[in-house]
Amino acid sequence: MLKVANLSVHYGGMQALADVSIVVNEGEILSIVGSNGAGKTTFINAVSGMRNVTNGKIEFLGEDITKISAHDRVPLGIVQVPEGRKLFSLMSVEENLLLGSSHTKAKEKRKETLEYVYQLLPRLYDRRNQVSKTLSGGEQQMVAIGRALMSQPKLLMFDEPSLGLSPLLVKELFQLIKDINRQGVTVMLVEQNVKQTLSIADRSYVLENGHISLSGTGQELLNNDHVKKAFLGM
Ligand code: ATP
Repeated sequence: MLKVANLSVHYGGMQALADVSIVVNEGEILSIVGSNGAGKTTFINAVSGMRNVTNGKIEFLGEDITKISAHDRVPLGIVQVPEGRKLFSLMSVEENLLLGSSHTKAKEKRKETLEYVYQLLPRLYDRRNQVSKTLSGGEQQMVAIGRALMSQPKLLMFDEPSLGLSPLLVKELFQLIKDINRQGVTVMLVEQNVKQTLSIADRSYVLENGHISLSGTGQELLNNDHVKKAFLGM
């Protein structure tokens, strides 16, 4: 579905990503794990078109999208749940959700998609008129996910969704990601929470200092000595 080849990104003279190549297959949960500053957000932003690339090629469903704007990637089905949620904090839950369906194709199905989101996340229905900034962190993350679903994603990319959530909420969140995936949405999950992420991912890449250092199934990486030492404190 997504094929990224030899991607490099620089911030001025600083290279944040060096020759990164990954493939995401339709229907899977693909994860990219790595510690703080490894380049995870830069990678996701490059795929969504929010960050210009210095080198490399990004193909989505067979089309070269490297030079397509972020705005034009959304209707193709490439949608991001950004790190830190980035809600419009003074707007209500429903207003935030509706913002996700601003491109023509999503607008046409706005009513049905909103019903689907409320069915999947009933707490958002209960709080639909509440101003977003008054929600708990977990509820805000749900709004960010609901808003992304309103865009009708084919590839849904999550940037550190577990950040700042309690262990119980992280468990709920990861279950929700699995449910969304089962309903036909391909998932790219970018996380520092290595153990739980590898447990739910079909395949994973490890990103270290802007390079892919390892790849394999979630289980293979959980059993890998380097992963155990560097990320699992074993
Ligand atoms: P985090 O979990 O902290 O978000 P990350 O793995 O997502 O980490 P990035 O945010 O992609 O990492 O950052 C990769 C590198 O690029 C880091 O060294 C970071 O300091 C640097 N960087 C990120 N954004 C910018 C920017 N706008 N200008 C300059 N350097 C940046």
